Amino acid sequence: MIRILDEHTINQIAAGEVIENPASVIKELVDNSLDAGATSIIIEATNSGRQLISVKDNGHGMSRDDALLCLERYATSKIKSIDDLWNLTTMGFRGEALSSIAAVSEIMLLTAKNDALKPIVDGTMLHAKGGKILSCQQAISLPGTTFEVKSLFFNVPARKKFLKSPVKDSSDILKAVLQLALSNPHVAFELTLNQKKEFQLASQSLEERIKATLGREFFATLLPIKYKNELLSISGYISKASFSKPTRSFQYLFINQRPVSSYVVSSAVKEAYGSSIDPARHPAFLLHVTVNAQFLDVNVHPQKKEVRFQLDDLVRKAIIEAVTQVLFKAVPRPEPIAHATTSFQSPFVPFVPLKEKQEVQMVMPQIIPQTMSQFQVMGFIGSYILAEVNWSDTQRQKMPPDLADAEVFVISAREALSLITYVGAKNAKSSVQTLLLPIFMELAPNLSHRLLEHIEGLSQIGFSIREFGANAFLIESYPNYFEEGELSEILPAFLAKIEESDHTLDIAKELALEVRASKRACALTHTLATLIVKKLTECDDPFFSPFGTKVIASISKAEIEKKFR
Ligand code: ADP
Ligand code: MG
Repeated sequence: MIRILDEHTINQIAAGEVIENPASVIKELVDNSLDAGATSIIIEATNSGRQLISVKDNGHGMSRDDALLCLERYATSKIKSIDDLWNLTTMGFRGEALSSIAAVSEIMLLTAKNDALKPIVDGTMLHAKGGKILSCQQAISLPGTTFEVKSLFFNVPARKKFLKSPVKDSSDILKAVLQLALSNPHVAFELTLNQKKEFQLASQSLEERIKATLGREFFATLLPIKYKNELLSISGYISKASFSKPTRSFQYLFINQRPVSSYVVSSAVKEAYGSSIDPARHPAFLLHVTVNAQFLDVNVHPQKKEVRFQLDDLVRKAIIEAVTQVLFKAVPRPEPIAHATTSFQSPFVPFVPLKEKQEVQMVMPQIIPQTMSQFQVMGFIGSYILAEVNWSDTQRQKMPPDLADAEVFVISAREALSLITYVGAKNAKSSVQTLLLPIFMELAPNLSHRLLEHIEGLSQIGFSIREFGANAFLIESYPNYFEEGELSEILPAFLAKIEESDHTLDIAKELALEVRASKRACALTHTLATLIVKKLTECDDPFFSPFGTKVIASISKAEIEKKFR
């Protein structure tokens, strides 16, 4: 039997599309505050948003009639007909966010129309549960709107079951607010998450906002970009080619102020970098793209996380041109070496201008016991090391047959570093490099959350990391198979990875993956090559990486001779 669903069921179904988790509730409420012209937005979430989400703004507020209507499905003040979609200047337009949220929670709404003449005005207080208005009364209030959303999904046990862990929900909230804050630097934002104040951001420039949220250290790796043609304008920052990242998590895109992802834009940016970055790596960017609303379809995703352009190809060309101009016309300046930007002149630690870390010293043992292997590095080509090695008997048993009569071994530095990291982290027995001058590291709030969760696990594999103010840390020691200079890249990338995944990850494997993607293997020196081969000779099975890829190949005399025939 066919039947028409009742209003309540329809709203619950819609809620499933728009409201995925507490972070999406916050995003919709903040979008509404921005649409209401707010210049200050205060957000609070307790118990990772499950217990309470509150968003308070100083926007234009609602009249009593509007307050009574706003929780209805398709209630919107932003469009009147489909044609208005092509002239949209607001974040919202579907009129379904509030009805969706209201259908699956308990809502307290306090709102008052902004009246320039009066500081305190006559407003409305409304209480609703499961989409039904329980009471509506007059209330004296500051101008603006406060939404309190309680007991999310209380009446949809099936959805509640599908909520991710509180930890994941918290980091999604942080990520969502971070994006909103980056897309609207002139709006003041405050976020209190699980009783902890995560952000307190005054109205500021984009530059200041990036520094305040993603860190000064990150900002220092960026170049400003500004571009305009008849179709679109671009402003923001892109990373210098030498600071590419192993994941895409440092790409922020805002199209007409909306945090969105767009394959057209991100692939065009990457294309512009060409061969100046490793194909396995990604540029970082924070781009504000403004397109005439006529050329943009925002109605392609229920949570408006994607957009579609009318003129993909022109957009692509414009992005490539804009990025190329900045990258290749920029006056080449000597890049500061990576660790110089991370050293921090803390008032608590005397500043030591010289790097105190001891150089890796290779001392060849004079008498080598029979069981130990010996080796000699002959040189390297790109990221491949040529070496002669006498493998130990146990190692020889694991050696693939094609290496059996090798004269010279060719070692992939990338795979080897990854294997060394894996074995070191797995066995948790590697020696530790203690720093006289700890490395200062600033992290984006979501990543700093992640670090705090994993600080214990990381300490077991030799990292000693201490919290040092909001979202800042001091690395006091680290396992010695890492290079000091790469920590400030590998750790954030590792944290971003675990953040993107819902599973409990194997720390050893993830670190190994990050090391494999890092640039270190491309910058071989004789010292590093020697260290790598030495460490490999200490592995029980040096021939294959934890990911099953080959670490070592060989060149035989016969092969060389063949080339001269
Ligand atoms: P949409 O944003 O798509 O219009 P919503 O369900 O999010 O739909 O909101 C419904 C309406 O409620 C909005 O169009 C707006 O008129 C009003 N509204 C919601 N939040 C606020 C707010 N913080 N300040 C003023 N008006 C608001
Ligand atoms: Mg809305």
